[in-house]
Amino acid sequence: MFTNVLAPIDQGHAHDVTLDDTFDFLNIDGAGKGFPIDLDLDAVLDWFVDRAVIHREGADRLRGQAAIKPKLAARDLTRVSTLRGALREVACSIAEQRGPSPGALDTVNRALHARQVIELVPSSDGISVDHRHVGDPIDDALARLADPLVRELTSGHPERIKICDDNTCRFVFYDTSRTGRRRWCDMATCGNRAKAARHRARAKYSTGGDAQTPEAAPPA
Ligand SMILES: [Zn+2]
Repeated sequence: MFTNVLAPIDQGHAHDVTLDDTFDFLNIDGAGKGFPIDLDLDAVLDWFVDRAVIHREGADRLRGQAAIKPKLAARDLTRVSTLRGALREVACSIAEQRGPSPGALDTVNRALHARQVIELVPSSDGISVDHRHVGDPIDDALARLADPLVRELTSGHPERIKICDDNTCRFVFYDTSRTGRRRWCDMATCGNRAKAARHRARAKYSTGGDAQTPEAAPPA
């Protein structure tokens, strides 16, 4: 059961992860911008701290450990990369309305188990809700990044989760259009490129140009 009790309770302990954070975690553009999985553990931890899915102290502890044992850094990076791949596969399977590849769900489910535990704590004016981290900071961060996708599946609009139609892009995005029929992550870039390609194909065809290219071939 997933309820939205994970909303931050006190300011000092706030990490409200949104679906946008999750998508940013999954997307890397052609120029290599986006989630820094191809860099190093430092860059990944910086990103986690920036998105408030990891406490700075936790990140610093991991940096310290990695400095002493490089193997640990490699293992942590592999964990992040594996979950990222699995979560992307789950998002793609939602968008493409097909079953996910074997193993992806297991990986995501394992990550979800490492999420924080909710507990009641006394406060000056009664009782408040706090959370306790159970796994290590990276497991916790990964669980938090998987959370919004689960919430969208259980109580949101999973049919609005889309993969950009541009094959060189393939960004995961949330379709906020009125009709829910958007095909590109961004109309200004990928959408425009597709429109220009269609226009070129039509122009070629109507001027009897190079009909050999598949683009210019008449519709069957
Ligand atoms: Zn795109």
